[in-house]
Amino acid sequence: MSDAVKVGFVPLSAPVQGILVAFCDDQLKLGAATRKALGTAADIVRRAAAANQFKGKSGAALDILTPEGVKAERLIVIGAGKSSELKEKDFLKFGGVAAGKLNAGSNAVTVIAELPDGAMAPDQAAAIATGIRLRAYRFDRYKTKKKDDENGAARADVSIAVDDVAATRKAFAPDAHTVDGVILARELVNEPPNVLYPEEFARRAGQLRKIGVDVNVLDVKAMTKLGMGALLGVSQGSARPGRTVIMRWNGGKKGEAPVAFVGKGVCFDTGGISIKSAGGMEDMKGDMGGAACVVGLMHALAARKARVNAVGAIGLVENMPDGNAQRPGDIVTSMSGQTIEIINTDAEGRLVLADVLWYVAKKFKPKFMVDLATLTGAIMVALGTDHAGMFSNNDELAERLTKVGLETGEKVWRMPLGPEYDKQIDSQFADMKNTGGRNGGSITAAQFLQRFVDGTPWAHLDIAGTAMGAPKTEINQSWGSGYGVRLLDRLVSEYYEKK
Ligand code: MN
Ligand code: ZN
Repeated sequence: MSDAVKVGFVPLSAPVQGILVAFCDDQLKLGAATRKALGTAADIVRRAAAANQFKGKSGAALDILTPEGVKAERLIVIGAGKSSELKEKDFLKFGGVAAGKLNAGSNAVTVIAELPDGAMAPDQAAAIATGIRLRAYRFDRYKTKKKDDENGAARADVSIAVDDVAATRKAFAPDAHTVDGVILARELVNEPPNVLYPEEFARRAGQLRKIGVDVNVLDVKAMTKLGMGALLGVSQGSARPGRTVIMRWNGGKKGEAPVAFVGKGVCFDTGGISIKSAGGMEDMKGDMGGAACVVGLMHALAARKARVNAVGAIGLVENMPDGNAQRPGDIVTSMSGQTIEIINTDAEGRLVLADVLWYVAKKFKPKFMVDLATLTGAIMVALGTDHAGMFSNNDELAERLTKVGLETGEKVWRMPLGPEYDKQIDSQFADMKNTGGRNGGSITAAQFLQRFVDGTPWAHLDIAGTAMGAPKTEINQSWGSGYGVRLLDRLVSEYYEKK
């Protein structure tokens, strides 16, 4: 992984080295440890702020070359705004802003984790560390000439000076594993489709065995035996065979029903015979963002030894046009026995999910299922790229997802379901058809999926707008965002782990 940034914690009193990162409020007030580190040079902050019209607004940064006599070579002051109103996601942002200010020469960095009125709490300092690591990640495996100035944070050695080193390390330990999970998901989404195809994706998911995850790979023969005709219909046009991967982490009570996560893993989506137009088709390597999130999440849960039983299931296929590809007009029989008329072969994600959802519901009888899928362009029309669309048959699950979305900054917005939408997917030849037309396109897709959850409490997250190509943020500069890993990891830790 291209995440070589090192982040550690030292006492507030430790000597400052390299670049100094400090915080001020909207009155430009600095904390005591910062003033001590700067000595008589503390006055320079006010003068530089006036010259640069820096007002300490939340997330703004002031970059100052320090005068002779100060240990630090550069001083970066980050505005915390009104420091009494700060939330977790503000500290994530501060870490991201700090990492974004580093350049190729930024080797040693000291971040003073204090606000004007005192040291930050351990979880606040841990959030800064998380923000630094999320921002520092870059995907440059295929660049043979690396530009040194592109991302200085990638090689930085960051010491965060905190009030209580032991408590902060303890707070950050699980979060560090969650960050690893996010970065794993980003890697998978960023990888090119000639490298990451279903078998290779399954092999990478298999690496989770090293951290105690039980991984079972279903090949075409096994899926045929199970009757997964909907998934296999999509897969049949590709020279590369499909796979379903079942990952299990058993950290909870023996025999207790698991929580379950299901991901769409279309490793490349040409649209099939209903082929997409050429412009931007390369982005369809990211049509496995849901599956990538599930793998990243399972990594996070296992690595931090979450006290929960969890199932992660991903359906991996390539949707290709070929002599053997499925046609519009074909009727396939899903594992549930329900038949589906194919109207548009580009509405393939729901066909893959139909069989994986049914399999998970029947086999594991989970407490709930959350599926993630880059499912519809329509969700981007409705919500843009700042919220994932959420559809659920269960108010409690929907409320919990909404709450952890606001906490982590991976936001969801609930969209409607209802039997009124069913007529749009009625078929004259089969039990249903795989598209419901343009109107309410993300809703009819969710309505379709609901027919395969067998009454299990369920939420569907349409992440077409958030998993890839979303605008860069303070904590993500990567095309593949890893969206959903922090959201669902928090859902588990907050509501489903035995404390
Ligand atoms: Mn498609
Ligand atoms: Zn797709």
